[in-house]
Amino acid sequence: MEETYCTETIILNRTDFREYDSRTTVYSEDRGKLDLVARGVKKIKSKLAAHLEPFNLAEIMVVAGKQFDYIGAASSKNCFPNIKGDLAKLAAAGKAVNFFNKLVKAEEADKEIFFLLKDFLEILDSQELKVNGDLWASFFIFKILAQSGYRPELYNCVICNNKITPEKNLFSLSQGGLIGKECSSKRGSDVLAISDDGIKLLRAVAANDLKMLKNLKVSAKLEMEEKNIINYFCQYHI
Ligand SMILES: [Zn+2]
Repeated sequence: MEETYCTETIILNRTDFREYDSRTTVYSEDRGKLDLVARGVKKIKSKLAAHLEPFNLAEIMVVAGKQFDYIGAASSKNCFPNIKGDLAKLAAAGKAVNFFNKLVKAEEADKEIFFLLKDFLEILDSQELKVNGDLWASFFIFKILAQSGYRPELYNCVICNNKITPEKNLFSLSQGGLIGKECSSKRGSDVLAISDDGIKLLRAVAANDLKMLKNLKVSAKLEMEEKNIINYFCQYHI
């Protein structure tokens, strides 16, 4: 007997499959990441196609099959038109969702991860966001890494465990956290300099909901530093 269920999902990726079908990767609220086949979406008259655009929030019905699970029906609840109409926002969404898709493993349901992705897209789509889209993507990536078991140590030195004090600290990619100046001679080659403001901002991103971070005032210099650290940190883990 075929099993069917409905779940709210965010469309992560869609690739061509067979003549008229596509493989659609989604992150679902109830069952985590799913790889599904959508039949006939490349036909001009397809009713499914518009609902299954990448980044859409959609309610879908899944039909379990022998070889593949299929999308039986789909209804988009938010197509995020402001993201799709703005190249900078679209690039930020693409970067964040691609990273998410690489990092998150299939079929491990985690509602917190689902709502983190949903908040990220909803706020990026809104007029309320005051930080640049690219930095917003970095905040999201940092929070997803933390949620997936890569939360960096931001309060004590990863070598000697002493409390971090101001000035001349380093961020270690391999050890996943800060190295105080007293241990800088013991550092590996995979470290980045980090300013006191850079540490404060990483702590704020780690500790707060995305909703609390959307209005942060970040200087251009600090934005560069923060994006650089988060980019290297995420490259190190995928
Ligand atoms: Zn130390």
